[in-house]
Amino acid sequence: MRKYQISKKECMESIHGVCNGCGRKLKPIETVDNSGNPTFWAGCIKCERFCNGVDKTIWRIARNLVENDKLILYKDILRSENNNEEELEKYLSYQTDRASYVVMEVINEYFKVKKASSDDSPQGKKYPREKIK
Ligand SMILES: [Zn+2]
Repeated sequence: MRKYQISKKECMESIHGVCNGCGRKLKPIETVDNSGNPTFWAGCIKCERFCNGVDKTIWRIARNLVENDKLILYKDILRSENNNEEELEKYLSYQTDRASYVVMEVINEYFKVKKASSDDSPQGKKYPREKIK
């Protein structure tokens, strides 16, 4: 029996959430690592991408922002009226993948700032409110 660098079970356990691009379920994909050893890596077959996933709500926010042209981080692939379904899906997947990282960062930062300001309560020294003149 071949020895895998990461077993299928370990790989399953490393999956947290949905595909960063298309929002579908991730699967352990049998592959080889950079040294040529057999392993399983989490990824999405549809997007042909390895990733460990993103929280489904974060993915949904990112996808909404991309679909509404509010968070388009990469200008090298743009949407066009002439896009067929496959091209549109590729565009959405690509942009949503990048956007989901930003959404995650923004949400983490939100909680960090919120916690810091409540730690310094009641005045919120670190992040003082602007005084009303
Ligand atoms: Zn995908």
